[in-house]
Amino acid sequence: FTGKTGSELLSEKIKKYKVHDFQQIPIVVKEDVSVYDAISTMFLEDVGTLFVVNDHACLTGVLSRKDLLRASMGQQDLNNIAVHIIMTRMPNITVCRKDDLLLDAAQQLINKQIDGLPVVKDKDEGLAVVGRITKTTITRVFVELAIESHV
Ligand code: ADP
Repeated sequence: FTGKTGSELLSEKIKKYKVHDFQQIPIVVKEDVSVYDAISTMFLEDVGTLFVVNDHACLTGVLSRKDLLRASMGQQDLNNIAVHIIMTRMPNITVCRKDDLLLDAAQQLINKQIDGLPVVKDKDEGLAVVGRITKTTITRVFVELAIESHV
């Protein structure tokens, strides 16, 4: 018997969770795709955040639902606007890495008030996008923890 309380044990367990244990598949688009095609991709892939990559498959930007909504409110033809015009771009992208604590990634989501983080890996030409952590990921873990602690 360790003498630890339930909440101490729970907190120790959460602090062992790493990003790579929970990361999901990232949905990426290239910088030159149109806003129209990015909106189609967001619906088809059923995600709220798209990551934008260049010809070297390296991260250059992020597109959120509201970024695409904002672009749609103008008068332009959405087929003629490339996503690199409207995306949030590097170096202003908050990223995480597979060995980071999931708790640190969750804190980034809160501090930066964003829905998702790309999981990245260093490449010669920049950062490769290998996964994603979103508010949904964190919600899933929260529910799993509650269910597990019953057994
Ligand atoms: P929404 O805009 O749909 O509410 P977010 O809260 O995720 O979705 O995005 C808010 C803004 O932050 C958007 O302009 C988006 O491009 C940007 N953003 C989203 N994720 C990141 C990230 N990981 N790093 C930097 N900026 C981001």
